[in-house]
Amino acid sequence: MKYSQIQNFINGKFVPSDSSRFLQVISPLDGQELSKVPMSNSTDLNNAVSAANEAFSKWSKTPIKERVQVFFKYKYLLEQNLQELAQLVHEENGKTIGEAIAEIEKCVELSEFACSLPQLVTGEILEVSRGVECRTEHVPLGVVASIVPFNFPSMVPNWTIPNALALGNSMILKPSEKVPLSAGRIAELLKEAGLPDGVFNIVHGDVEMVEAICDHPDIEAVSFVGSTKVAKIVYQRATNTYKRCLALGGAKNHLMVMPDAIPGMTAQNVAASMSGCAGQRCMAASAMVAVGETDHIIQKIVEEAKKMIPGDNLGAVINKESKDKIEKYISEAEEQGATILLDGRNTKVDGKENGTYVGPTVIDHVKPEMSVAKEEIFGPVISIMRTKTVDEALAIENANPYGNAASVFTQNGGVARYIIEKASAGMIGVNVGVPVPREPFSFGGWNESKFGVGDITGKSSIEFWTKLKKSTIKWNPEAGVNWMS
Ligand code: NAD
Repeated sequence: MKYSQIQNFINGKFVPSDSSRFLQVISPLDGQELSKVPMSNSTDLNNAVSAANEAFSKWSKTPIKERVQVFFKYKYLLEQNLQELAQLVHEENGKTIGEAIAEIEKCVELSEFACSLPQLVTGEILEVSRGVECRTEHVPLGVVASIVPFNFPSMVPNWTIPNALALGNSMILKPSEKVPLSAGRIAELLKEAGLPDGVFNIVHGDVEMVEAICDHPDIEAVSFVGSTKVAKIVYQRATNTYKRCLALGGAKNHLMVMPDAIPGMTAQNVAASMSGCAGQRCMAASAMVAVGETDHIIQKIVEEAKKMIPGDNLGAVINKESKDKIEKYISEAEEQGATILLDGRNTKVDGKENGTYVGPTVIDHVKPEMSVAKEEIFGPVISIMRTKTVDEALAIENANPYGNAASVFTQNGGVARYIIEKASAGMIGVNVGVPVPREPFSFGGWNESKFGVGDITGKSSIEFWTKLKKSTIKWNPEAGVNWMS
């Protein structure tokens, strides 16, 4: 085992789990055993929640300008430790080192945003009647939980940690059991940055722990990021005990390519979007709708995709189960009559025979009813459908149940505006393959890609992590008697 056995992080210390159930942590890069992660139980969760509850009473009363000082230091520490943090993401997730560096850089940006929160959470005040004022303030919720997926071991936790904590909450993080290592380093850096013990806690586990979090009476809010199937379960279970819940789910993002799109730029964007992080991004291009005469662009997409070399600039997929599932999707499409222009099945990387790699795959002449057209594949695969008109392309995009992202490639502003208006997704790209909004714009999809109100990052997250207190105050009893008196 490369790293020591993983422990929970409760009240500022790493502590062994009460459970004797462990899972192996395997690197997708080469199959090496990295560690073992405990599948914690309700005793562990109760300990974490009590620590978080106790810490909350002091932390929530610490002025926000003081609280964000922790995140100025945390941001600095992320920068100082960038290479080492990226290496850990690379090893446990299988993405390339360059992608892992970009992930940590995004964490820096997220902490930077949290540092600006004092400027954004100022309340409102108004004299509503003579001598009577109304004012509002954002009040933290209490102990909150963040449940995260495997594909961004550091970035997705950092979507929630800096904002939720800077706004005065204390937190329980439940990392993905597939990539549990980065969370421990996040905890260490937060402590080094001066975060008081108990404000941030980690409880490792799987389904059982997620259920215990949803049911726990002292947890006020749950944020979840993962597949749609589990997002629905978590949303229903957490709101069943009257918690606030925001649950982000899976995606099937469509790129609509017009005949006037700039071929080189479009091809580079499509290839990068479908294969970045080995296609394991909820913003990845998974389906492309080619409108009209676009053969010359498709040819260039294949040329660009061929430049993605597994084990070099194309990372591994998370595990063997995932590799088998992706390859099955490709085989099914082939059997159903689609044309495989570039085939990533049976990919092996020399010297990393136990790594789980899938090569870039371009499938043409896909029909909208095929499973590769409809379902999230989560691998470096693009399914190309052909239509004659923009409206037919939009009909395909609109019919898919997800709604994270949609992009259009065109030089025609009118067409771009039309797609922005008609596409049924929360994040739209114009000549951008991965239209992730940068801070302070918020991240969040529509339809079956998100359950709950508001977005998880940016200004929108303030509403999720706080409740609004409204005070009506009469300072001067001599003021005239009126309807408020
Ligand atoms: P997942 O749904 O399998 O797991 C997410 C979390 O839920 C993990 O912590 C896991 O332990 C837990 N979990 C798994 N099965 C559970 C169950 N039956 N009951 C309760 N909890 C359970 O997701 P994943 O495979 O880790 O991540 C990939 C998925 O996440 C993809 O669908 C991807 O699109 C999605 N994702 C979405 C976004 C977004 O912003 N919408 C961002 C990143 C990833």
